Amino acid sequence: MANIEITEQGHISGERVSLPVSGMNCAGCSTRLETALSEFEGVDEASVNLALERADISFDQSKTTAADLVKLVHDTGFGVSAETLSLDVTGMTCTNCAARVEKSLKSVPGILDARVNAATDRADVDWLGGDTSLLTEAVKTAGYSATPHLSAPARQKLQQELKAAEIAAQTRSELILLAISVALTLPMVIQMITGMLGAHLRIPGWIELALATPVQFWIGARFYKGAWSALKARTGNMDTLVAMGTSAAYFYSLAMLLKLGEQAHGHLYFEASAVIITLILFGKILEARAKRGTTAAISELMALRPETANVLRDGSETELPVEEVLVDDIIIIRPGERIPVDGKIVEGRSQADESLITGESLPVDKTAGDPVTGASINGTGLLHVKATRIGEDATLSKIIKLVENAQSGKAPVQRLVDRVSAIFVPAIIIIAVATFAGWLLTGGEFESALVAAVSVLVIACPCALGLATPTAIVAGTGAAAKAGILFRDVEALERAHQVDTVIFDKTGTLTQGHPAVTDIFSTGGDEEKLLRLAASLQSASEHPLARAVVNHAEEKHLKLGKVREFESHTGKGVSGMVDGKPVIIGNRSIMKKYQITISKKILATKNTWENKGKTAVLVAIDGTLAGLLGISDPIRKETALAVKALKQEGITAIMLTGDSMRTAKTIARAAGIEQFEAETLPKDKARFIEKLHGEGKVVAMVGDGINDAPALALADIGIAMGSGSDVAMETAGITLMRSNPAMVSEAIRVSRSTWRKLWQNLFWAFIYNVIGIPLAMMGLLNPAIAGAAMAMSSLSVVTSSLMLRLWKPKVT
Ligand code: ADP
Ligand code: MG
Repeated sequence: MANIEITEQGHISGERVSLPVSGMNCAGCSTRLETALSEFEGVDEASVNLALERADISFDQSKTTAADLVKLVHDTGFGVSAETLSLDVTGMTCTNCAARVEKSLKSVPGILDARVNAATDRADVDWLGGDTSLLTEAVKTAGYSATPHLSAPARQKLQQELKAAEIAAQTRSELILLAISVALTLPMVIQMITGMLGAHLRIPGWIELALATPVQFWIGARFYKGAWSALKARTGNMDTLVAMGTSAAYFYSLAMLLKLGEQAHGHLYFEASAVIITLILFGKILEARAKRGTTAAISELMALRPETANVLRDGSETELPVEEVLVDDIIIIRPGERIPVDGKIVEGRSQADESLITGESLPVDKTAGDPVTGASINGTGLLHVKATRIGEDATLSKIIKLVENAQSGKAPVQRLVDRVSAIFVPAIIIIAVATFAGWLLTGGEFESALVAAVSVLVIACPCALGLATPTAIVAGTGAAAKAGILFRDVEALERAHQVDTVIFDKTGTLTQGHPAVTDIFSTGGDEEKLLRLAASLQSASEHPLARAVVNHAEEKHLKLGKVREFESHTGKGVSGMVDGKPVIIGNRSIMKKYQITISKKILATKNTWENKGKTAVLVAIDGTLAGLLGISDPIRKETALAVKALKQEGITAIMLTGDSMRTAKTIARAAGIEQFEAETLPKDKARFIEKLHGEGKVVAMVGDGINDAPALALADIGIAMGSGSDVAMETAGITLMRSNPAMVSEAIRVSRSTWRKLWQNLFWAFIYNVIGIPLAMMGLLNPAIAGAAMAMSSLSVVTSSLMLRLWKPKVT
């Protein structure tokens, strides 16, 4: 490899690579990584710099690659801040093409990984950055053309228009070609059928030649072209097989016609090659249409984007293109209009139909202060909305990005299939030659040998194999997205179908997540004072319980005091000084820590509240227990059904909470959850998941991602519920757009359906070849029928995937 500078942060020169490493936050981390790298096969020397967040590695290229090293970094628990660049590739007709583009891209220095998807015509490249023309050149070398994928909003419009026009034109010209092809082929087919029925309708051989020649070389030109470009790249594809098979039939017939003249009748196979070409063309047209169907979810999402917004600037209203809207602009939305951007209502009251974004079919009431999502539809009120997130940050853009990402990924099994398809075509050619030789050697006639070999060539279909997994994934993730279920990547989709245990964080997932103070008890009788001091201290805390206390005090218009020495005790509570008095708030374990005794009376009250499912928070002032606050966070109405649905899928639901045993028990009972752990600290939650792993369970963790980060990261798959937190959307394997726990089982269900479909497709694609090829070898298949079967096989895979689009969640 030449000395190539790629970027300042990352470069490769000779056999050295500098990787920008992320996620190292301690010296132990860097040594751990350094040891792992140094011990890796093929690495000569590795040094990891914590401050620069960089790993410099010199390695032996014959033993390892930059991509392997990146994988090792990931496996060691860190990230490599590589960029991902997407390219739109044109001209890929089949999956073998995708493999070729992928290979060519991977040979570019500095490229860590490349994933090419023939179903979406997209290439995703992980690399260390640099000149993008290196990438487009690499695609060109493989025989295709590529353009960088534009930023979401700009691209969506442009591409949609271009693509629609292109598809329309292409479809039209293909249909015309098909019609001509059918017209030319039909007389020969009629002759063939009547011949089989015993009648003798005979078309003169020269007329057959005149009919078959344009089909072979004009309509069939695409197969020759495809075969030629594959040959240049030293591979083979479906075009190779079709071109070889039909040419053999055509030229044999031509030779017979020249030799025997009209006596050649009965030795002519012009109709076979014409029928094969016509049917495969027909199959391709249908396949393209079905393929577009599987990707419809994305175009539907893109079509949701409103084009303009009525912005209030300097007191007057102007209609601007959405791209020109700025954060904090005030936008006026009239009844029935599509809300153009994400924002917060500053004035007005209405309902929003968010069904196209979240899958939630009922309109949601909205009033001042509530967030609205771009692309949802305003109900009957007039709204003034302040724009909060625009462009790539907007929810719709993020959804589109996630869906695209999941769709362009490759299932692990796909890599195996790719390897099979790479040797598929050469193998078929060898089998065809062997068939031909076998027939001759066993005393068969030249003509029968040739016919059998031609059938082998045209029945073998690498396309069905190649389309089996990507079309299932595209259709499945698309249907999921429509229901508000977003998979981050293919790995998440894969893992979700294996899940057998789902862990719920209680607060906000099983419960409504808006805790409110419902009871106050003060030992001294002054409840207002207790609330005032507690709320003052809690104003410094981010905890949902703290917010409930502050809200309650605000409702009572209490003036809060000054807080000093605030300290938060994770999973226990908070402590600090309010107006010079020491105040401690939390559960029993924080009281124990400060050696504060809890009287029998207080304990009894606490127990009663907890039995009702409320959280009883103890408050100590001046070193003695002063009272307690009852905070209620009611269970969601969907929770019990959600747990039941999981059980029906054979999945165990478990609840983990930091709350007390009694409260947990009440909530668990209401939810129908049998297994739960209470009074857990974040590290206990993580340990609990490790224990389940030890038992061989595949664990999904549903949480808000705020104080459950270690557990979410440890679980096999993290599920973030509600579109609430942005971080969660990027880190969770699955994002559920609706705050409804019932969507958890739906997410698992859709991934199971997708995976089932994927294997089904693979099975059919394989079995079809496994049965068809031997039949063809034995001469039991007429070449025209073999051609029809080939056309059918990939079409059937694609249409079967298309059925996945009909998937719908059971909850409405
Ligand atoms: P969860 O697992 O339900 O999210 P946490 O781990 O956040 O619970 O908290 C566990 C328990 O610790 C709470 O039920 C509460 O008793 C106590 N606690 C934690 N933080 C606070 C706080 N700021 N104010 C009052 N109590 C708190
Ligand atoms: Mg929590």
